[in-house]
Amino acid sequence: MSVDATVTPESWDEQLRESGLRVTAGRRAALEFLDDHPHSSAADILAGLSDDIPSISAQSVHNIVHDLTRHELVRRIDLPDSGSARYETRTHDNHHHVQCVVCGRIEDVDCVVGHAPCLTPDDVHGMTVLTAEITFRGVCPECEPTLRDRDPQY
Ligand SMILES: [Zn+2]
Ligand SMILES: [Zn+2]
Repeated sequence: MSVDATVTPESWDEQLRESGLRVTAGRRAALEFLDDHPHSSAADILAGLSDDIPSISAQSVHNIVHDLTRHELVRRIDLPDSGSARYETRTHDNHHHVQCVVCGRIEDVDCVVGHAPCLTPDDVHGMTVLTAEITFRGVCPECEPTLRDRDPQY
């Protein structure tokens, strides 16, 4: 696992350049924000950046996350209970997610067994499997009492 705890603005600049992307204030700020707030939506990023970059627009955030995703600096995840796509800087490790069905909270789940893809399907219909992306759906501890109130059988 290569979770780098010492990511600095300078190293984001480096990663942008290595990916062939020009370093812009918006791209750097989006990477910093996503590193601190994994699984954020484009709207979250916009809200998070607008204090520092008042001129940033929803359209520019969409362009930024699109470029960062295409160059694999950011991973896009689409989860069934999220209204919009989420983004994170934790790429290339094929980790999975667990999502609370009540509040939508999303957490990372590390690969449990072996190398990516860490799930072995019984029939791939002739395809070569490259990655596996699983969403475990559950209830987080904060929401569990709510669910129990709603459904005593739970
Ligand atoms: Zn919850
Ligand atoms: Zn994640």
